[in-house]
Amino acid sequence: MREPNRKTKVLTARLLRSWVRCRRKAWLDLHGDETERVWIAHRTLQLDHQQRSFMALLSTSPGRGVEACKKGEYGVVGLRLKGQGPKNNLLEVHPPLLQRVDGSSIWGNFAYKPVLARQGKKLTREHRLALAMTGLLLTKEQQAPVKEGLVVYESFSGLEVQQISLNEKLKKELLISLEKLSNDIRAADPPPLTSDRRKCLLCSWKSLCNAEAKREGHLSEVLGIGTARRKIFQELGIQTIHDLAKSNSSNLGKRLETFGEQHSGIAEQLIAQAKSQITGIEKRLQASEAIPELDSAKGVLIYDIESDTDARKDFLHGFVRINRKVNNQWDLKGAKYQPILSINHDKKSLCWKQIKRKLEFHSDWPILHYGETERLTLSKLAKQEGALEKEINLLLNRMIDVHSRIRSHWLLPINSYGLKAVALWTGFNWSHKGSDGSKALLWWRQWELGMKNNKPNKNKLKLIFQYNKDDCMATWAATKWLLDQEKIKP
Ligand code: SF4
Repeated sequence: MREPNRKTKVLTARLLRSWVRCRRKAWLDLHGDETERVWIAHRTLQLDHQQRSFMALLSTSPGRGVEACKKGEYGVVGLRLKGQGPKNNLLEVHPPLLQRVDGSSIWGNFAYKPVLARQGKKLTREHRLALAMTGLLLTKEQQAPVKEGLVVYESFSGLEVQQISLNEKLKKELLISLEKLSNDIRAADPPPLTSDRRKCLLCSWKSLCNAEAKREGHLSEVLGIGTARRKIFQELGIQTIHDLAKSNSSNLGKRLETFGEQHSGIAEQLIAQAKSQITGIEKRLQASEAIPELDSAKGVLIYDIESDTDARKDFLHGFVRINRKVNNQWDLKGAKYQPILSINHDKKSLCWKQIKRKLEFHSDWPILHYGETERLTLSKLAKQEGALEKEINLLLNRMIDVHSRIRSHWLLPINSYGLKAVALWTGFNWSHKGSDGSKALLWWRQWELGMKNNKPNKNKLKLIFQYNKDDCMATWAATKWLLDQEKIKP
């Protein structure tokens, strides 16, 4: 870490948004070592979604800067607002969009209000405070009050628009937050890791913070310990994963009873998980075979879906086919990948027909997948396309959720049982280092845009297919690990 620059006094809306997400993130954004930062697709996806939402809101292209405000253009981008904040801090905001409203301002018989795009279903404190900060500076700039802001969200069903009142209560909250932010960024050391580590998944500092969490034995490293449970353990004097691993399960279970049954029943499992992570040794939970269905299978299909949740669209159904040779070995060299693209909603029937044909061609082969999504999606699609109940049941009976078999049979020395964590632990590697679902989605959106503009980018499609194939093969790596354990059973 670098020594913080104590002279830093410019608080930007972007810094405030980082701070609302995680106090530590704001500190790292200013003082962290940039070489520790990883690129994540989330921000690019956000900007892409923002662009689409704004286009849906405006009927004409927005104007740029203060000149556009003077002309009274309906939408304005590229304005830079500055002002004085609490504790002599300078404030700076680059509003993503301003929308003209009725009123009177320094520019004429109209005024402006700030607009933000939200990604995801919920309006958050981050959006409210960012709007309030823009409103504060815009009030001074246009010399007219800004009573409300707008939050827009382009979804599969159209544009959602929410009016947000920028009232006194919100302004007060903004000033308190800016003061706290100012204190945090002046500290010599970064604030602690956020207690809700799910936020880390979409953060560019995740590599640095994951290493820190491991080093300090942060309780959130143990699967099943979120913000609330971590607080309970801390109250009981259990501060780290090492403290937890040393605990006595019946004693801890009793102490946890006062916090509710859901906590007491899980003590033994959490202690065992903590022990496994500290020792690096996996532990078998059930003597029975994890995937007996594969004993006599002539081959397997591995199935993985890529989705665009904002558009509520499963755009790619990927299958890998692996035959079993006469010597009972799995023919990995002959493994075949087949992607089935679902480009638009009208072609859903065609997509189902292709999937159905594929599944019927190997009607006695099990279908491996990782997590519930594939099973739910396939069953929904089959119902929508008029498949008979008997047909759907036959299909579902062939599906094997490798994730659930791992969870029921094994404790692994890792902090997540997601496909990525499990497959990496078995030694599997994705072709493109650092690729993930959000990058695949970004490639998909870029490919779609190219198609719309008659400039198809085949390379993006290749990247998506490779990623999807890798996900299928990662599912196989997890399966193979389970099969191998049967061979070395004592
Ligand atoms: S990775 Fe997590 S703890 Fe670290 S800055 Fe980001 S959100 Fe905060």
